Amino acid sequence: MSVMKKKLHVATLKPAELKRYNRQMIIPSFGKQAQLKLKRARVVVAGVGGLGSSSSIYLTVAGVGYLRIIDEQLVELTNLNRQVLHWEADIDRSKIESAVEKLRAINPNVKVEGEQKRITRENVDELLRGADIVIDGMDNYPTRFLLNEACVRLGIPFIHAAVEGLVGQLVTIVPGKSPCLRCFIPKEPPTRPVFPVLGATPGVMGCLQAMEAIKLITKIGKPLVGRMLVFNGKDMSFDEIKLERNLNCPVCRRRKEM
Ligand SMILES: [Zn+2]
Repeated sequence: MSVMKKKLHVATLKPAELKRYNRQMIIPSFGKQAQLKLKRARVVVAGVGGLGSSSSIYLTVAGVGYLRIIDEQLVELTNLNRQVLHWEADIDRSKIESAVEKLRAINPNVKVEGEQKRITRENVDELLRGADIVIDGMDNYPTRFLLNEACVRLGIPFIHAAVEGLVGQLVTIVPGKSPCLRCFIPKEPPTRPVFPVLGATPGVMGCLQAMEAIKLITKIGKPLVGRMLVFNGKDMSFDEIKLERNLNCPVCRRRKEM
């Protein structure tokens, strides 16, 4: 928690960082300023399964300053078709230990901290404290709703994604400005311990979550707010569904415009 409580005071980019991030810094309107914003940013990735593996890798290579990853599980053989941060040799290790080690090796400039915890109503505020953005890497709706509620309460943007089979959905929730998860999914879908997933699906959706996070941090482009992206790998289609705020939403109806 120590790093998140303190503001990350970062004045400059080291010469090696300027070189490392050159290919993104030469994107028109990106430059040094956007890279510095990334370096000052604190992102929480809740869950390092399929979605969390993909999003945390792309946030790490992009040079986000601080990454906090949360997961309670151990690596299992059945995870390996999609959870690309965990390898054969990691089976029975904690996902946090496995992921922290890989992410630090990918980019030592990023401060990566892990919390091997189950996210509960009691600890969620503490786990998210200080975060600029929270990424949904969960595989169940009860925890997603818990994160959604906490993000609305704390005013933290929440980048939701979910996958099944070859289909994925994505939406960026900005408290006070956009519909929250509960506005458009009023009731929790039933929790299933095992559901089908092709690894490439969370690969794609996790990449898109990282891209949304980077856009929000750098204020580049137009975020996926108030519209849900539905990706279907079967026919390789990307469709958009317009979302409206539910004025009677039990989670966000009292949330004022930010
Ligand atoms: Zn709502």
